Amino acid sequence: MDITASPSPNFDARRHPLDMLVLHYTGMETGQAALDRMRDPEAKVSAHYMIWEDGRIDQLVAEDRRAWHAGVATWQGDDDLNSRSIGIEIVNGGHDIRLPDGSLPPYPHDQIAAVIELCRAIIARHEIPQSRIVGHSDIAPLRKQDPGEHFPWEHLARAGIGVWPDVEGTQNTDIDGKGLAPGETGASVTQMQEMLAAIGYGLPATGTYDELTEAVVKAFQRRWLPDRVTGTADLPTLKMIGAIRALARR
Ligand SMILES: [Zn+2]
Repeated sequence: MDITASPSPNFDARRHPLDMLVLHYTGMETGQAALDRMRDPEAKVSAHYMIWEDGRIDQLVAEDRRAWHAGVATWQGDDDLNSRSIGIEIVNGGHDIRLPDGSLPPYPHDQIAAVIELCRAIIARHEIPQSRIVGHSDIAPLRKQDPGEHFPWEHLARAGIGVWPDVEGTQNTDIDGKGLAPGETGASVTQMQEMLAAIGYGLPATGTYDELTEAVVKAFQRRWLPDRVTGTADLPTLKMIGAIRALARR
């Protein structure tokens, strides 16, 4: 692996054991702009690694230090996720810097190969459960959309990075009937909220399909149903929630 040292001053001491991996996109015009920002003491942001489009990797913060990438975030009941995680910034313009035709900029093959190699090395060095490998949008669904529905989560999962169900997993869930939509209330909404919380999302079981619930459903869809990022929990979404819930906490 080709890793260049590009030290950032933006770190402090971990306050919890390291047991999570958080993936981001940079969301800026260029990788250089993102790297410069993460090394600027005024910006007060950083990550442990940044991966360029061509697969080169820069390391900004040592793994045993607390980099500043997650912000206010929660997963599986934990907060201060900077203290618990390694953060990887992947160079990609994301939702703000789109291609001329309006589509999201693709992640190049060489870049994803480097993401996989680095994640595998990190998982080998630290005890990181599969269910604690997350995107920024999973842990901050009201604020963040990265690494985006164009990030190849299924490909990573096939390479041993993150949770993905087999086809039977989604068929065997005992969920049927119709889906749920924003504004609805009742026991079915409560049950869906409880399943999403069991996966890890910071979502109280209020019984009301409110703004936070819609944001969490969108974050879930970006991750596991990238062709239907609507915020509405249609039947395929409910079945996938059930399948991921069955795999959670491994
Ligand atoms: Zn991010």
